[in-house]
Amino acid sequence: MPVEKRRGMVCMASEKLESGICIACGREVKGIPARQDFVIRAARKMRAILRMAPHHTVVENAHFEEAKARRANFEKSLMNYRLGAVLFFLFFIAGGIFFGGDAVSSLFAAAAGAIFIALLPYLRYYPKFDWDFSSNQRR
Ligand SMILES: [Zn+2]
Repeated sequence: MPVEKRRGMVCMASEKLESGICIACGREVKGIPARQDFVIRAARKMRAILRMAPHHTVVENAHFEEAKARRANFEKSLMNYRLGAVLFFLFFIAGGIFFGGDAVSSLFAAAAGAIFIALLPYLRYYPKFDWDFSSNQRR
């Protein structure tokens, strides 16, 4: 997306800032909320179950560029690991056929290994901050 268009979105979003904890500096600020993806929703549920105070993640305008860069890195590692998972799966299956192993169990092992690899980058999860409010409705 061209830079001018993103800038326009920043202006549009300024009245939609929410108060929460800034992901970059940990201060309580008004900022852009993190997108409510499955990781954020799961973290919320965990905090609710553990009776911890709700933690609303936002990013200040001042830290937005940094957050965007870190999110881009995270998305890149997601892509790389997914590619790695697919390659692992294919090589594992190819190896299984080559060595004449049990096809069903090597399929399961290959799938389990591939899923594990694909999930690894979530250990360094970084949320997305954007203005897609259609997917960010709070209940
Ligand atoms: Zn901050």
